[in-house]
Amino acid sequence: MPSVIKAEKLRFAYRRVPVLENVSFDVQSGDYVGIIGPNGGGKTTLLKLLLGLEQGAGNIFLFGTPLAQFKAWNKIGYLAQKSPVSQSRFPISAEEVVLMGLPQRLGSAVSRADLKQVHTAMQKTHTRDYAGTIFHDLSIGQQQRVLLARALVSNPEILILDEPSTALDAQSREMFFNLLGELNQQHGVTILLITHDTGEVGKHISKFMYVDKTVVFFGTKSEFCHSAAVAKQLGPFAQHTIDHLHNHHGHCPLGEDCTECAHAEGKHA
Ligand code: ADP
Repeated sequence: MPSVIKAEKLRFAYRRVPVLENVSFDVQSGDYVGIIGPNGGGKTTLLKLLLGLEQGAGNIFLFGTPLAQFKAWNKIGYLAQKSPVSQSRFPISAEEVVLMGLPQRLGSAVSRADLKQVHTAMQKTHTRDYAGTIFHDLSIGQQQRVLLARALVSNPEILILDEPSTALDAQSREMFFNLLGELNQQHGVTILLITHDTGEVGKHISKFMYVDKTVVFFGTKSEFCHSAAVAKQLGPFAQHTIDHLHNHHGHCPLGEDCTECAHAEGKHA
């Protein structure tokens, strides 16, 4: 699979306070990466570096092109932690919010092709029924799906999301994650997602990235379960708890032999 995001030795500081050091990884087309780690560990900053919203040291390649020369931003959809649209009270319809995700063509009216793209994105996110509703009158879950439609409207190959589920209730959260899973599995969209919902998201993701000032771990779910670096960072108990959450039925690859699993399940003192 081709590399779509490559980071080499990234380093970043906010006003001389180091936030990220020696960050290197390679995300491949079709990956669904769950980015986890402690608060303040640098997850949001890392996504901002990848999107060119912050600049640090090191190299970033998007679809093989160095970030400084990269222009095809329509290939990347981004859903930030706090969207300015959610905070503004401007009476704008859901459909208009989605339209805002397309490049602005000053002076020209909205074309039929633009509207078709808006409708397709709203179909994918199951939001077409309230296209004409004022964005602010929608529930938080509906708003979040409209914002996802906006991130998807230019048909991106990569979707980058920063804790999109924090404000959602359990039902909307499950629906939202199922939707992302569908986009990844059926439409081949590469996804990078910061989340604390290791249980729910673990059903869909293909890889974990654990960020704490550097990339402590990046690999598949089963590699996560066996990683000595993760055990050192989290302790085997939390490592296996996360593994159990994503496996749901506690199918640790080590099976009965895994003492940490037995401990996590309260099987021994
Ligand atoms: P995470 O997403 O893992 O919670 P962040 O990337 O948001 O971590 O933050 C990493 C560190 O950088 C934290 O210590 C945070 O306080 C600091 N930080 C984040 N944004 C800024 C900023 N705009 N100015 C100064 N410090 C910041």
